[in-house]
Order: sequence, then structure tokens, then C-alpha cells
Amino acid sequence: MERQLRGTVDEVIRVCEAEGIDADILRTDSVTFACSPAQMQRLRDEHNDDTAWQVPPERSQLVGAAEAAARIRIKDVQGALVTAGVARVQPAKLVRGLAAAVERLGVRIYEQTTVTGIARGHVTTDRGTVTAHRIVRATEGFTHGIPGNEREWIPMNSAIVVTEPVPDAVWDEIGWKGFELFGDAAHAYCYAQRTRGNRIAMGGRRVPYRFGSKTDVNGQTQAETVEKLKDILYRLLPQSRGLQLDHAWCGVLGVPRDWCTTAGMDPATGIGWAGGYVGLGVSTANFSGRTLADLVLDRRTERTDLPWVNRKPRKWEREPLRWLGIHAMYRLYHLADRREAASGGAATSRLATLASRITGR
Ligand SMILES: Cc1cc2nc3c(=O)[nH]c(=O)nc-3n(C[C@H](O)[C@H](O)[C@H](O)COP(=O)(O)OP(=O)(O)OC[C@H]3O[C@@H](n4cnc5c(N)ncnc54)[C@H](O)[C@@H]3O)c2cc1C
Repeated sequence: MERQLRGTVDEVIRVCEAEGIDADILRTDSVTFACSPAQMQRLRDEHNDDTAWQVPPERSQLVGAAEAAARIRIKDVQGALVTAGVARVQPAKLVRGLAAAVERLGVRIYEQTTVTGIARGHVTTDRGTVTAHRIVRATEGFTHGIPGNEREWIPMNSAIVVTEPVPDAVWDEIGWKGFELFGDAAHAYCYAQRTRGNRIAMGGRRVPYRFGSKTDVNGQTQAETVEKLKDILYRLLPQSRGLQLDHAWCGVLGVPRDWCTTAGMDPATGIGWAGGYVGLGVSTANFSGRTLADLVLDRRTERTDLPWVNRKPRKWEREPLRWLGIHAMYRLYHLADRREAASGGAATSRLATLASRITGR
């Protein structure tokens, strides 16, 4: 599984080149920064985990404060975990480019059509019924809206803010010459990229989950979330203070009860599925697409026997337990981050360990 997944970035890039899709793709490294001894310890554990899974050393490397700061001048940085073999991408350009590519191959895409039910041999929509021998459900964070799947994957919110184009003088202070993807090792972590248009895009989570699996309307982001992300940006990169935020949007991620993705096909109903990527679906969706193609065509390949295929994680709890569990987890994560920052301690706060245990993360 590990080896197969490692190839997905190359595969996405290969397809984009072959199909002439310009999605701002740039091969780079991903850098997770530690800003406290506890965060550094978590990165060491993660690196040991990578080693145990035979991730080659050149792909996963632990570096000290000076080397980390030489890439991006993050405030109070103590070290970083550098993951090679990744790429920056503009996901909206990627998805539009892929849509155009499959249409060129003769596929018809029907948009503005809401699926209201899926059953053996047919899909009901607000515009009529479609019949098919094989049906693939790929609705990710919206899957709960399809009857029968209400507790399958919960919609977890994630939001992004984007700065105005950053002046060269500010880049000189920040560094970030390699356009690395970066994140921090906080429990309530953030993630960021330097865009092709030389803006900083930073994402994170403020309202993790809405009662009853409700989702936002058209990506409208709460003002409180925007402020919080701005605070994180200014804290990690004080050089960016004074930059205006030009855009903010949010969306949902599909999260299974055990936080592990699945793909499969039920031969009895002809209904297949893939998703539950927990926010890491840009390359994984490519891999699940290839896996589903094998399953739909009854091909047995090196993908179809992997452990995520036809895995059925247990369902999420009914409300209000679901809401209480997720919100308790995030409250504890925020508290754990504050305690670790205040104490300067070397160990992960026990509150975070408890939070992960509550929700099986
Ligand atoms: C703010 C944010 C930041 C992210 N950052 C990253 C990142 O840095 N790296 C990464 O790898 N991933 C990231 N992700 C996650 C990534 O976007 C997803 O994992 C990926 O888009 C999943 O692809 P998908 O095609 O399976 O699902 P989606 O892209 O969610 O597509 C699902 C589609 O199903 C449609 N749909 C849903 N319900 C119905 C219905 N009833 N009827 C008809 N159509 C329906 C939706 O309209 C949508 O078009 C991020 C997500 C968010 C929200």
C-alpha cells in the first residue's frame, strides 16, 4: 500500500503532462515544522514510523533548526520533517483539466444534478433516474446526504485563506524559495503553500464539524475562522504581518470512523465506492480511481488485493454523541497545544492522547 501510494504523485503529473493540463504543478518537498520540544518529539516518532514502513531515507528526513529555517523562516522553529517526492498543485485547475480530458475521450459529465438515492442498477436524481450495471459512489464529504450512508463518513470542515501577492521584499525575509508545502506539528495543525501567483495559501480547522453532519453553503467561511487562520499565519510567519487576505473558502473532507480510507465494489449490487481520504485526497483519489477501474472491469491487479479494498469500517455514532466526540477532541487538541506551548515541555500533552483515543484517530 505504502509503495503503491508513493507512485501517485508521479502518475498525476504524468497524466497532466500527457493531457496538457496546466494545474500549477511543481515538484517540491513537504516540510512539517516543529516549534516546541513536544512537536519535535512527534516528528521523531513519525520519522521512526516512516523508517519502519521502509520509506527510503531520502524521502523522509529529520532536520535541525538551522536547516529547517534555511527553507522557510518560521518563528521559533526547532526542526522539521522533510518529505520528498510531493508536488504543489492548484486543485481547481486539476479537476477542470481532468474534466476536459475525459470529455475529449467521449465521456459525458452531467453537472447541477443531485443524486438522491443509489440502489442496485439505478441512481435517482432530481432530474430523473439513471440505470447502470455498475455504479460508483465518489461523493466524499457529502456521502452522508445519500440515504443509507448517513453515518458512513462524517463531513469534517477545513478552511483556507489566501493573501494578496507577497512583495519580493517580504519573500526575502521569509525565504521559501523552494515553494515547499508546509505544515506545523501542532495537534490542531495548519498547512500552507506558496502559490504560482506568489501568494500564501494557508488552511486549518476552526469549526471541525457541524451538528447533524451539516455542511456550509458554497464555501462561505465564518469570520471567526478567517481571523484564527490569520493569527496562525502571523504567528508562524511574523514577516507576513501587514499582508491583506484576498480570499477565504471552506469545504468538507470525508472522515471514516477509523480515519482510514477505503475503496471497493460490492459484486452483489454492482455498487462501488472510494473515499474517506481525511483531507489527503488529491493524489489518493487518483489511486482510488485506478483501483475502481480495475474493480469495475473485474480485473485482478496489484491494486485490487490491497488492504483498503472492500474494507468496511464501523459507522459513526448517532447524534449527539458524534458532535460531542468530535468537538471534545478538538477542544482537547487546542488545550493540549496551549499547554505544550506554555510549558515548553518535551512530551506530548496527555490531553491530546486522550482526544485521539476518544475518536479513534
Ligand atoms: C480546505 C481544504 C483543503 C484541502 N487540502 C488538501 C491538501 O492540501 N491535500 C490533499 O491531498 N487534499 C486536500 N483536501 C482534500 C481534497 O480536496 C479531497 O480529498 C479531494 O477533493 C477528494 O476528491 P473526491 O473527488 O473524492 O471528492 P470531492 O472533490 O469532494 O468531490 C465530490 C463530488 O461529489 C459531488 N457530490 C456530492 N454529493 C452529491 C450528490 N448527492 N449528487 C451529486 N453530486 C454530489 C460534489 O459536488 C463533488 O463535486 C482539502 C480539502 C479542503 C476542503
